[in-house]
Amino acid sequence: MNYRKCVGCGIVKDKKALIKVTAQNPHKNIVINGNSKIFGRSAYLCYNNICIENAFKKDRLKKVLKAPVPQELKGKLLNELRYSQNK
Ligand SMILES: [Zn+2]
Repeated sequence: MNYRKCVGCGIVKDKKALIKVTAQNPHKNIVINGNSKIFGRSAYLCYNNICIENAFKKDRLKKVLKAPVPQELKGKLLNELRYSQNK
C-alpha cells in the first residue's frame, strides 16, 4: 500500500483513504483527486471537516503545495467530502 500523511492531523494513512490535492504543473492550478495524468506537488487530507479546516490554518496547505491556495478551495473540499459520504 501507498501511505501518505494528512496535512490536517498528521496521521499517516493509505492514500486511497485521503483526499488528494495537487498543484498542477506548470501553472499550479489546484486539482482535487486528480488522476495519474495530473503532475505536481500533492497534499493529502482525511475525509473529515476538522482536517480540512486545519489544513487552512497557518497556511499549512499552501506550505505543503508551495503554491497559492484560493479561498474557495475549502468549499470545494467540503463539497468533495459531502459527495464522498453520499456515494
Ligand atoms: Zn487528517
